[in-house]
Amino acid sequence: MSDTDTRDPTSLRTPIVAVLGHVDHGKTSLLDKIRGSAVIEGEAGAITQHIGATAVPLDIISTIAGELVDPDDFDLPGLLFIDTPGHHSFTTLRSRGGALADIAILVVDVNDGFQPQTLEALDILRRSETPFIVAANKIDTVPGWNANEDSPINDTYEAQSDRVRGRLDESLYEIIGNLSDEGFSADLYWRVQNFQRNVGVVPVSAMTGEGVPDLLTVMMGLSQRYMKEEMEIDVAGPGVGTVLEVKEEKGFGTTVDTVLYDGTIRSDDRIVVGGQNEPIVTDVRALLQPRPLAEIRTESRFEKVDEVSAASGIKVAAPELADAMAGAPVRVVRDRDLDAVIDEVQAELADIAVDTAEEGVVVKADTLGSLEAMADALDDAEVPIVRAEVGDVAPRDVSVASTAEDGKQKAILGFNVDVLDDADQRAEIENVTIFTDEVIYQLIEEYEEYVEGIEQAQQ
Ligand code: GDP
Repeated sequence: MSDTDTRDPTSLRTPIVAVLGHVDHGKTSLLDKIRGSAVIEGEAGAITQHIGATAVPLDIISTIAGELVDPDDFDLPGLLFIDTPGHHSFTTLRSRGGALADIAILVVDVNDGFQPQTLEALDILRRSETPFIVAANKIDTVPGWNANEDSPINDTYEAQSDRVRGRLDESLYEIIGNLSDEGFSADLYWRVQNFQRNVGVVPVSAMTGEGVPDLLTVMMGLSQRYMKEEMEIDVAGPGVGTVLEVKEEKGFGTTVDTVLYDGTIRSDDRIVVGGQNEPIVTDVRALLQPRPLAEIRTESRFEKVDEVSAASGIKVAAPELADAMAGAPVRVVRDRDLDAVIDEVQAELADIAVDTAEEGVVVKADTLGSLEAMADALDDAEVPIVRAEVGDVAPRDVSVASTAEDGKQKAILGFNVDVLDDADQRAEIENVTIFTDEVIYQLIEEYEEYVEGIEQAQQ
């Protein structure tokens, strides 16, 4: 069984790493580069594909990073990278009390600098107190840059002319200045493990691989320090996780892709999952992991496993999951009191609950965490909310919005969700305006412009 965790129980849990940043700044490319380097260094079997995540073991990181990451200096089994790059979906997913990701890489294009989603990501990192490093990406696009593939940044930097170095320096100091404007003190860190509180800024190229050894070195230093400080180790207890996605899966019905951040989950466990209306109590039917590509023929893409331990990405098939929500907690009951577990799930959900008013706009979002972020932003903008839910914009949302007396509130704001066809048609008939966007502040700006239009028309 590929995923049974046989590591020493006294070692630290694998840190969960999120990659975030503005669109097109290179999140996917960076993840691909790290995954690709891991495969090259370790050949087959070096990385384990999880549901929604990739595990890169310590020895492979050490091979990529070179002499500065000595496996003997680390108690971490490796790093678990969440695959869905984006600043919204999983970075707004939460574990008990914090962010789902233990640490993050914020990707910033050196040419493009800070952009709206960079700021939004920083805001999420600040609020969730997630330690992070900045990957100052695309250094190979600095005019005149002479690429030195897969090299540590010192080597590649030294090989440039003064003028080219100067251009990169300028971009890097701008990034450091932007971070400082946001209240983070930052420094350039190239292959430094034992830095203190400052945010490390590491120049990299996801294209050529330059600087990736440094990035991993700094990541490992940050992870080790953070996991030692923060983690309670409970790899054997009943599992605790967060739903990444709710998905129909042929032959398995509704499943929940889950990131397990604590304990274990077994194929005969009873679990409690956060639902749209109330906690769902159900029994695991199957735990599914992606099958290695080579083994996929006509059979299922998944293989069943008996048990997984944190940190892992796992697909859970069970009855009654139709109402499960992305971002909701998942808890294993096992030998615990069922009511106590239900209470815990309810408490976690209540913690994320959004205050609604009698009159207001309808808000839909892709996950509980992003719903909460939307609600916060609307609160700041003094826009009341009548209904807030996870999911696509559906006809019944239009019905709710259409009853608003104030025309400005005949609106639905959908963050990172789709609009169902029927909803679109009904909105046209009922005179309800639907706004959708993948950037919170843009979504709110669009709504504010709409309100302004109505106000002007009334004058
Ligand atoms: P994401 O939206 O943040 O996931 O960005 P992508 O990884 O999809 O990258 C956006 C574009 O930038 C793609 O065309 C990439 O090939 C390109 N790109 C990403 N990283 C680099 C880099 O380090 N150097 C260069 N030259 N291009 C890059």
